[in-house]
Amino acid sequence: MARDKSSPSTGAQTGEVESTEGFSGAISSVAANGASAASGEAAIEIKNLVKRYRNMITREWVNAVNDISLEVKQGEIFGFLGPNGAGKTTTIKALLGLIFPDSGVVKVLGQAPGNNEIKARISYLPESPYFYEHMSAKEIINFYASLFGLDPRERSKRADYLIDLVGLASAGNKPLRAFSKGMLQRVGIAQSLINDPKVLFFDEPTSGLDPIAHRDIRDLILHLRTEGRTLFLSSHQLSDVELVCDRVSILYRGKIRKMGRVDELVIGGNVEILVMGLDPTPTVTAELTALGAKLEQSGRDTLIIGKADIESKNALIDLIRRYKAQLIAVTPTRRTLEDIFIETVREGEVEAGEATKFAEASTAEALEVK
Ligand code: ADP
Repeated sequence: MARDKSSPSTGAQTGEVESTEGFSGAISSVAANGASAASGEAAIEIKNLVKRYRNMITREWVNAVNDISLEVKQGEIFGFLGPNGAGKTTTIKALLGLIFPDSGVVKVLGQAPGNNEIKARISYLPESPYFYEHMSAKEIINFYASLFGLDPRERSKRADYLIDLVGLASAGNKPLRAFSKGMLQRVGIAQSLINDPKVLFFDEPTSGLDPIAHRDIRDLILHLRTEGRTLFLSSHQLSDVELVCDRVSILYRGKIRKMGRVDELVIGGNVEILVMGLDPTPTVTAELTALGAKLEQSGRDTLIIGKADIESKNALIDLIRRYKAQLIAVTPTRRTLEDIFIETVREGEVEAGEATKFAEASTAEALEVK
């Protein structure tokens, strides 16, 4: 997504204070990929969304978003992925009611976005949130809480709770100009929770953070899941996405190229079978080849790498039994979300090569990851 151009530079100021506090104890033990609280009701619905822009130089129309449809259930953490220029920001702007679709329908919590009732129940965290630097974290959270109309006592309690939740209790009274990027991101998350939102939109929440801040923010996202909030997460940090998201979609040049559950996408098409006592004779090797498998021998151990579908797996196990070898382990191979992302973008690129409206964008630009 495009950077928030209004954001101040952060993290390199002099006199920064570093916080080593983690998020509050309540969330420190949240397990990765713990059960989500996804319910059957849709939090976000996008049907056949199209948004076109006119290129000011070439005067040509570009489909920034080209007929996408998806649904995110309440309580789900949904990863909205894609290389730069894929159409993520445009989609999120439509979901926030900041732009109008050329065609198609978008709904948040069952209603058209942009009306005040919906705005009160959602929040958006930009990649580099902007804050008045002379204010302290507590003051800024109090200030935003006042914009939501919370009464002063409630406001102060909520500010203290949120500052503590994001691990800034000891730095809460210091001016924000002294904060590192990671600390400002924590303030941004606290701010995004002021209105107790049901649906959150996070843009690159962990980009540019040091490993500790990074892990803390990831833990907080997992905590939000346990609270049953819905999170629409745009991120290039694919290892985070793999860890925290229930489902993802991969957008490329305005189209959804892949969508599914993370645990299903990362299961590779292969299985590794460890066997003892299988003599790798030419007959055995030929039989394995006929089944689309190959073997690697290491002493008495044999590793058979075959296809993961049930039929192929059963045929391989039958072969092992027939040769009276000992089956030690059967392990499905996993791919990373990064492998899947790159493969999907490359496939999209090949198709885009067949002269689409986007053909002018270079491959390097399309694959650039912020
Ligand atoms: P992403 O967030 O995935 O990087 P964007 O939604 O920002 O992608 O952009 C998708 C496409 O739409 C890009 O080709 C971009 O140049 C174009 N685009 C986005 N906003 C505008 C705009 N206001 N005017 C013209 N083109 C735009």
